[in-house]
Parts: sequence; C-alpha cells; structure tokens
Amino acid sequence: MSAMSLAGRGSRNQTPRENKRKVSRAIVGCLVKRCLFLALAVLALGGVASAQQADPTLLTQYKQLNRRYFSGKLPIANVSVFWDETISKSDLAGTWITKFEGEPENIRVSVSTFIQECGSCVGAALLHEMVHIKLRNRKIDMHGKEFQKEMVRLAKKGAFAPYW
Ligand SMILES: [Zn+2]
Repeated sequence: MSAMSLAGRGSRNQTPRENKRKVSRAIVGCLVKRCLFLALAVLALGGVASAQQADPTLLTQYKQLNRRYFSGKLPIANVSVFWDETISKSDLAGTWITKFEGEPENIRVSVSTFIQECGSCVGAALLHEMVHIKLRNRKIDMHGKEFQKEMVRLAKKGAFAPYW
C-alpha cells in the first residue's frame, strides 16, 4: 500500500483532538508482489469477500507467527488485524502505526480482501507486515537492507515454507 493513500485515509478518520495531540505517526506501506498472480487467480474464481473489519482469526494467526518467529516480542494488546477492501489489488497489505501523546501505540494491520481466499498469500503478507512492525522504531529504508536481512532470517527459519 502506498504511504500516501494510507495517510489520506488516516487524516480523514482523525478527529481534530487527535490531530492536535498527535506526536508521531509512522505509516508503513507494503507490496507483496509475489502473491499477485495467486491473488489474480482468486479473483478469477470469485473468491473476494466484501468486508472491512477486525478479524479474530487473522489476529490469532498474527499471534502464532509472533510466537514462532519473533519470540513473542512483537506487540499484541495494541494490535488489530483487519480485512480491508479498500487496499489496492497491487498492494495487498499495509500497516498503520499511530502514537498519540499519553496514549499507547496503536498498530493496525490491514490485509486486502483481494487475497482473502488465498491462505498462502495471507500468511506471507502477515509476515511481511510483522517485519515492518518489528523494525517500526528504526530509522531505516522501508524495504531496505535491515528489512531484507529480517526477511532472510525468517526464510532461513522456514517461516515461508508453508506459503510457497
Ligand atoms: Zn512492506
């Protein structure tokens, strides 16, 4: 997801109070092109659902991946994972992180309904977003060297084995 589109949506959703109290906001965009052809196949089969809501199954998957591949160190309590039909077909997933003064960090992971019927796509997309979450406080290129290093670490641990 492009950062600009996320920023646009975020500013529409913010109340004036939130804008005033905002101290920082990190927006992470993602491209998971590897899954695109699979997602296109899913679309061809009509496997697209219409939804934009927090999904407990997605959160459970997030927690499982967190335990298995991130030693359970990624945040959980302030994380919500959504199916989102507004994400473009070429982006597939995105993470939106907000931090307001005096309030806990809030992390929203959106997964496109475009890949809802493709379990492999969803798993790979979640891992991609979770790496962004792990590196969220580092001043680094979004998909740069540190990101790639972390993806390789996951691959070596077999994190993507069920998905390819
Ligand atoms: Zn990304």
